[in-house]
Amino acid sequence: MQKLFERIDGLEDAAVSLTQDLIRIPTVNPPGDAYVPCAELIGERLRASGFDVLYERGEGTPGDSDRHPRTNIVARREGRRPGPCLHFNGHIDVVEPGEGWTRDPYGAEIDDGKIYGRGSCDMKGGIAASIIAAEAILQEGLPFDGAIEISGTVDEETGGYGGVAYLAGKGFFSKPRVDHVIIPEPLNVDRVCVGHRGVWWAEVCTHGHIAHGSMPFLGDCAVRHMGAFLEKLESDLYPALADRQTAMPVVPEGAKQSTLNIASIHGGLPDNFNGLPSSLVPDLCKVILDRRFLIEEPLDQVKAEIIGLLERLEKERPGFRFDVRDIMEFEPTLTDLDAPVVKAVSEQIEAQFGHKPDAICSPGTYDQKHIFRIGQLKDCIAYGPGILDLAHQPDEYIEIDAIMTSAKVMAGAALTLLSGR
Ligand SMILES: [Zn+2]
Repeated sequence: MQKLFERIDGLEDAAVSLTQDLIRIPTVNPPGDAYVPCAELIGERLRASGFDVLYERGEGTPGDSDRHPRTNIVARREGRRPGPCLHFNGHIDVVEPGEGWTRDPYGAEIDDGKIYGRGSCDMKGGIAASIIAAEAILQEGLPFDGAIEISGTVDEETGGYGGVAYLAGKGFFSKPRVDHVIIPEPLNVDRVCVGHRGVWWAEVCTHGHIAHGSMPFLGDCAVRHMGAFLEKLESDLYPALADRQTAMPVVPEGAKQSTLNIASIHGGLPDNFNGLPSSLVPDLCKVILDRRFLIEEPLDQVKAEIIGLLERLEKERPGFRFDVRDIMEFEPTLTDLDAPVVKAVSEQIEAQFGHKPDAICSPGTYDQKHIFRIGQLKDCIAYGPGILDLAHQPDEYIEIDAIMTSAKVMAGAALTLLSGR
């Protein structure tokens, strides 16, 4: 391994300039800008290292159009003989920069050992680290069995439908093609992320009856009905959620309990209205709920709990009418701590840092959900450089040291997993 690690050290300039090149392509999602040049940058570079490269457009997936094609890249390099395949999957999309930057979000400026830019940490630094890891193995001429795959996929930030979900539906994340997956998301360079909580997004509407605002007694106010529902959430649901703790190692601490965010509320006048209101009793009010649930909670129970509160109101409160629409749902995922990819990466982290890594779970979901559910592949983790808390923040950066160390961990783990040991 020592020669491999020295080779990686020698590739530091290459790792930095690759990360910079990726940051300078503004793959902002939504809408899904510049996916093609970013996919081609990764694909053509890997082709030069002997990878077979495929571009797979998630045709017809949400947001896909000729102007904003959902173009993914999947590259595969065969080893000396058949064997297992290790796949590195990174999402190429980034969120918009937002306010508060003191650097150019697409300038990829270097300062004090850090590269700044939108997507530097989440997760172009991680993609660069996986590419450098593979290049180092190939340049050293180290023999491996099976195959190494690297993909750059789209739309993770908006659910991954045109990216990993689309590819998983075509068999790209299933056996026998792939055996082990590492997703280099920024979860801190000395931790292994083995899963995430579940998510249910739903829209709840309450209905009323429209009338003149000066005679509200002739109507029925949907906003007041919603108020009654929100009160029920406060009095009944939030205390119950606070009592539920998961055995999963979710970070940060507050996310070990079940959570509910009321993501939006709207009733009455249209959004962005700034004229004079007409005098009306609103007959519709909507909230969007973002419910994050634990592996100990079945999804049907999570839904039934909220629908139960609404049904109680229907009995208790005259005129209360509601409906609930599912927007998105994903079950929690948890990779076995004894899984080969967890062990291989943990061993390498320990070798680099001198201590055993923490196995953690993410509070939110990421593309692992599609690999589990659609690909039916359980040997999957997130591991990569970058500080989790910097994701989506202004002045996001990636530490060059972390890119280099994680590249060593990834390369070492690849040799372990592909050596048939
Ligand atoms: Zn990410």
